[in-house]
Amino acid sequence: SKADARNKLRVFEPAMLHARQLRNQLVGELREAIATDQLVLYYQPVIELASGKIEGVEALVRWNHPKRGLIMPDEFIPIAEETGLISELGNWVLKNSVEQLRRWRSSPETGRHNFDMRINVSAADLQRLQFIEDVRDALTAADLEPALLVLELTESDIIKGNELDRYTLASLRKLGVGLEIDDFGTGYSSISYLRRLPVDRVKVDRTLLTALGSDPAQPALIAAILQLIRACGLEAVWEGVENAEQAEHLRNTGCISGQGYYFSRPLPAAEFTERLAWQDIW
Ligand code: C2E
Ligand code: CA
Ligand code: CA
Ligand code: CA
Repeated sequence: SKADARNKLRVFEPAMLHARQLRNQLVGELREAIATDQLVLYYQPVIELASGKIEGVEALVRWNHPKRGLIMPDEFIPIAEETGLISELGNWVLKNSVEQLRRWRSSPETGRHNFDMRINVSAADLQRLQFIEDVRDALTAADLEPALLVLELTESDIIKGNELDRYTLASLRKLGVGLEIDDFGTGYSSISYLRRLPVDRVKVDRTLLTALGSDPAQPALIAAILQLIRACGLEAVWEGVENAEQAEHLRNTGCISGQGYYFSRPLPAAEFTERLAWQDIW
């Protein structure tokens, strides 16, 4: 009835208002957070399963909020994307991660490792011509070869791409940075796209490991996914590896690389540096 609807409205409105105020506040604070270095990068290794060696490090951003503590990216990346702050945030991540890799490579304690830096790129970045320059500048500033930087993009970001996206991807490719599809298997994967996209590697989403956990068809499905990726001439990384059985199974099924809590959680730079100094095999 009308009265019910009015009552609902009355209950609903203050909550909506509150959520919007909270959001607006967060947007303002996020802008300041980028400018005042409240963002921090955590690092998680990607492991070559056959050797146990580290082949890459993924940089994962967190927001060290002065009052709220550590905020995870799922809570602020969507806001950054909707408000356009994502380009500043992305540039901050780019500069800081590449600079960290330069430090690891040039330090006597950690320089014996040879791995690349992998960062998450947002669809909005592909819409900016300046992004190509930002990448080039960050690599030049850190004096790193372009191949030492890998950009992770989700399938849906690449697939719904327009002409500008394609131009950006082709330019980045020409520059020599690595490109990787992230979260494979969660969007609408089309085999023809997988074949056509200018990428080197595919990261299979962790849900394809957990969701299949109890399914008797799991081993066959994992093998089929890996075969599909290989047939397209690409390398596979599987994310969300949480135990030795999974790592062992993936290795035996011909998966090149893995990432997950079993090898390491994402760690702050200081802790990651310590592990790099002492550890060769993960
Ligand atoms: P993603 O790129 O798929 O990153 C993997 C997420 O899975 C990370 O969450 C990581 O901490 C988590 N993870 C790693 N190993 C395991 C495991 O074994 N089990 C489970 N259950 N989880 C695992 P996180 O750090 O909260 O990041 C969430 C998402 O936020 C990322 O998903 C990525 O899409 C986005 N993100 C993170 N950093 C950035 C960034 O700098 N820029 C952009 N644009 N997005 C970012
Ligand atoms: Ca990723
Ligand atoms: Ca992923
Ligand atoms: Ca994901």
